[in-house]
Amino acid sequence: MTPPAAPLRRKLIAGGCTLLLLPLVPGLARAATIVAVRTWPADEYTRVTLEMDTELKAEHFTLDNPHRLVVDIEGVQLSTAINDLVSKIRPNDPYISAVRVGQNRPNVVRLVFDLKQDVAPQVFTLKPIGEYKYRLVLDLYPKIAQDPLMALLKDTENDPLAGILESLAQGGPSEAPIPSVEGQKLPPTARKPPEGAPPPPPRTAPGLRPGRPILVALDPGHGGEDPGAIGKRGTREKDIVLQIAMRLKKLIDAQPGMRAYLTRDRDYFVPLNVRVQKARRVQADLFISIHADAWIKPTARGSSVWALSQHGATSSAARWLAKKENDADLIGGVNLGAHNAQVAKVLLDLSTGAQINDSIRVGTQVLKEIGKINKLHKNRIERAGFAVLKAPDIPSILIETAFISNPQEEQLLRTPAHQQRIAHAVLSGIQDYFSAHPALARRS
Ligand SMILES: [Zn+2]
Repeated sequence: MTPPAAPLRRKLIAGGCTLLLLPLVPGLARAATIVAVRTWPADEYTRVTLEMDTELKAEHFTLDNPHRLVVDIEGVQLSTAINDLVSKIRPNDPYISAVRVGQNRPNVVRLVFDLKQDVAPQVFTLKPIGEYKYRLVLDLYPKIAQDPLMALLKDTENDPLAGILESLAQGGPSEAPIPSVEGQKLPPTARKPPEGAPPPPPRTAPGLRPGRPILVALDPGHGGEDPGAIGKRGTREKDIVLQIAMRLKKLIDAQPGMRAYLTRDRDYFVPLNVRVQKARRVQADLFISIHADAWIKPTARGSSVWALSQHGATSSAARWLAKKENDADLIGGVNLGAHNAQVAKVLLDLSTGAQINDSIRVGTQVLKEIGKINKLHKNRIERAGFAVLKAPDIPSILIETAFISNPQEEQLLRTPAHQQRIAHAVLSGIQDYFSAHPALARRS
């Protein structure tokens, strides 16, 4: 209660406050502008992103019968951009059937998502980064987390090796938990490690078992909100590497005794530690992350292959590259704390020299094969602290297939024939590795 004696002073203070508060609470003075609305539907989860010129507050809750997610955004007025959301929901979205947008109260826009199933929503904001302004992110996860092992099994239906993979899935590796977020339940068959307990020590070598196919986890870099590097002609790294990974998967699946698993099979964002967790969950024998390089100078060219370094990078350019690839989580938009980050962190400390030695072996073979179809950027395998290569028990390499920032190589990367050549070269490198190191196949 301000004493009525000082109305003029009060007015001045109020005026000052408005000015001071303007950048912090824009809703009080003017409505924020929604710059863009994007949706990324995928089986694993559907993401809706609202990009705006200022940070906004949002509240959310779910309703049952029928399932709905309600999101109230403060400080916005209805606009064409936000109304666009309605048309951006695709009929094949696994989670959202429709969205309704309305001005709920002055200054509050309410989004009501009609759902196809119950969800575990993650609602969070991201500060401006890269090309993006402020983002309000709505991630709709299924109430029961998806087991990558089950996804792999579904993919291998009618496959002569399905039985073997199924027996593998029966127990499910308890040291490799199912990637999940807060609010999700685990599938009934999965065993959950006790809360806060570190995972038991991992296998020290690739766990190839007799009769079991060699399982290669293919990891197309970036995706969703994170386009990766972009070429002069607008070619996006995330699209090219997915195409190459899908070609390589086809080649691998056609080999007797070999199968491939994709850490992402469409255009959506997968956090780096989730990629690692998925590969561990399916007990991959090899992890191959596929990327395309970029450099300020368009003349930089050539392929390179990378293994993990726990103690610094082989050069400052290497350190720069690892940072750029690790930034995928910032640009793609990770909800810090939502994923089992604790597990991921413990895993990092378990990284072994054995993994790195095997990674260098397989990487050297792959580099040799790629050298037959493209100029090499460096003649030997390089090393840096890539977050995605940190599975302690799976030999892991990262391939920079070519420079998307080099106009000639960008053109090559766009060409199906060249994508196929890259896939063939990687397959040959993998095969050379497994035939040169049959000893690995006996360890279990
Ligand atoms: Zn990349």
